[in-house]
Formats: sequence, structure tokens, C-alpha cells
Amino acid sequence: MTFSVERVRADFPVLSREVNGQPLAYLDSAASAQKPERVIAAEAEFYRHGYAAVHRGIHTLSAEATTRMEQVRQQAATFIHARSAEELVFVRGTTEGINLVANSWGTRNVAVGDNIVISQMEHHANIVPWQMLCTRTGAELRVIPLNDDGTLKLDVLPSLLDDRTRLLAITQVSNVLGTENPVQEMATLAHQHGAKVLVDGAQAVMHHAVDVQALGCDFYVFSGHKLYGPTGIGILYAREEILQAMPPWEGGGSMIATVSLTEGTTWAKAPWRFEAGTPNTGGIIGFGAALDYINELGLEQIADYEQMLMHYALTELAKVPDLTLYGPADRRGVIAFNLGKHHAYDVGSFLDNYGIAVRTGHHCAMPLMSFYQVPAMCRASLAMYNTHEEVDRLVAGLQRIHRLLG
Ligand code: PMP
Repeated sequence: MTFSVERVRADFPVLSREVNGQPLAYLDSAASAQKPERVIAAEAEFYRHGYAAVHRGIHTLSAEATTRMEQVRQQAATFIHARSAEELVFVRGTTEGINLVANSWGTRNVAVGDNIVISQMEHHANIVPWQMLCTRTGAELRVIPLNDDGTLKLDVLPSLLDDRTRLLAITQVSNVLGTENPVQEMATLAHQHGAKVLVDGAQAVMHHAVDVQALGCDFYVFSGHKLYGPTGIGILYAREEILQAMPPWEGGGSMIATVSLTEGTTWAKAPWRFEAGTPNTGGIIGFGAALDYINELGLEQIADYEQMLMHYALTELAKVPDLTLYGPADRRGVIAFNLGKHHAYDVGSFLDNYGIAVRTGHHCAMPLMSFYQVPAMCRASLAMYNTHEEVDRLVAGLQRIHRLLG
């Protein structure tokens, strides 16, 4: 089946609305993607006809809901080519997944004198949990610096790694620059020093196929809401032997084997040991529908279309006077920019008046803003439902703002 952007757009009800009297041009999918009717309907259908609390239920609805939840775990495992569904933990999103690793694996495996390596292009979700862990344990946080074009200074990496490196935590695709990092090669290097490797896949999974075994990572984390699924659901993948050895981080129902007031508590096996409390079952069902939707379209077709649109956007944006673009030519999904000396908020407000939704601010990447010595940037993201016409509107909008503001 060939990829048809018109057909894809028809699946997303929100894309037909107007904003400020103009057709909506939604260029903010890197923050959160819109949802196809399939996802909305699957979640609504679950609440209408299939809803019940999962686990331990003897009644039919509960058993059905539990089965569906575990089917989605298997679906997600297949999506990222994990060996087994039992390597996947349902979490709220990337942020919670990384915090889980920092609190559970980190507390057990990181001590004073150890170090953790991240990069200067990380989202705060892949910085702050490691800073907190380092403060708690006395470990050191080391940072891979950047080249001006927004790629990593990879030649520096070997000098940051040593036999006290416990973890390399790196984003696969930057949420600001669109840079795709060579995580497979970086993982090989880190493993030579006995370090584990965590990959933040929040901005990668929607743009191309991911194979966690081929990447060679120990942990992989992503969010459902950027993958056209509901909010509040995400995946933490961890290699089975690592996950089974990790202690729980939140206590409560569903994560125990036995609880005794006199003899203490024993834990359920992973991944359920990490899923205390009633899970976001509605979100999980919607997430399963999103994976079905993407699989039917084909990630390869999506990637080809998005890369063609990216190439067009970069060519057209080069025609806007005084526009500074951040990041390498070869990139995925996002285009961060500033127009002259105008604050990103002003530019973003003008664009909103023209019906164009872009993100403005520090993009939860303040160390990256410091690197480029700007307080903020605008960011346009390109998803599978964006069009050449929307890119033209963005370019025309920026040209108009330039004429108005100088
Ligand atoms: N990492 C990256 C690279 C991201 O882009 C984001 C979302 N902006 C996150 C982590 C955090 O994801 P979430 O807010 O879904 O937990």
C-alpha cells in the first residue's frame, strides 16, 4: 500500500479544525502527536463495553482486560524487537521509565567513585534523574560535548569512559536538533568498559523501526503519546537478566508475591514487580491501537515520507531571511530555529495567529540552549500527517513576520 498523506490526515479528527480562522497546521508533534480515530475509538470502546480492573479478577471482564493488557505488552515487545514481553514494563512515559531505572537499578549499582555519562543534547528527563542519583550516591556525571552543527563530539567519548563508568544514558534522536546519534557504536564502546547503556527513544520510535537487540542497549524508553497513542502510557524495556535483578521502586498492590506483617514481603517477578497499583488500562488499550495503526501504515513508508518532507522544509526555510536553524542537515522530525533577534515566544505567537502550531521555549533542554547561547528557540516538528502545503505556510508566515518586525 502506498503512503497517502490525505488518507492519513482523514484518520485524525483534530486536523480538520480551524485555529484563529485558519486551517490548523499542527507542527508540534514532537511535544505530543495527535490521535487517530482508531485510538480514540479503542479507548472509548474499552470504557463502554470492556472496562474492569485487571489482575486477580475471576469475573469475565477482569480476565478479558488482563488478557488485552498483556497482548499489548507483547505487541510493544514485537514493535521494538525485544526477545520477550517480560522485558517490558508499562510506565507513564519516558520520564517515569528513566526515573525507574535511576531509582531501582541506579541505587543498587551506582556508588561513590563511579560515573555516569550523558550528553549535552539530552532532554531534562535524561539529565535530572542522573543528577539526583549522583547527588544521592556521590557518583560523577560526565557530559559528551557538542559540535556547532549539533552532532556529538564522539571523539571525546573514549576519554569519558573508564572502568568506573556504570551507565551511558543517551538520546537516540535529539528533541531539539533532530540529530540521530550512533547509539549502536556508542553502546559497543560503553560495553567494553562494562557500563550499561540506556537509550532515550522518545523522539525515535515514531520515525523509524527500532530493534533493541541490534542497538545492543540494556534499557530503552519511550512514550505512547508521541507515537499517536494516549497520554500517560509508555514503555521501559530492560534486558531480562537486568530487569529480573532490579529491586522494586514503588511498593503496593500487584507488585508482590506475598505480604506478611510478621515475615515481610516478597516480590512478584518482573515486569509486574515494577507495576504497583492499578495500571492505566485505558491508555494501554489505546496504545495497542496506535501500534496497530502504525504497523498497518508501515514505519518504513512513514520514514520515507517524513524524510522527503524534511528535505523540502529545509530547502524552503533556507529562503527565509535572518533565520537561524539549529542542528545538522541530516536529521529526524524536528527543525529548531530563531528569527533574527526576536524572542521565540513572539514568533510563535504570530505563527499561532496564522493557525500554525509550533513549540517555543527551552524544550526541556536548557544545557543545549546554553550551548547555543539563546534563551529559547521555536521548533517545528514534522509528522506523518504534515504536508508540503503546511511547510509552505510556515515559510510564508516567517517571511511575513520578518517583514512586519524587521
Ligand atoms: N526525552 C525526550 C528526547 C523527549 O523529547 C521527551 C518529551 N519531550 C522526553 C524524554 C519526556 O517524555 P515524557 O514527557 O513523555 O515523559
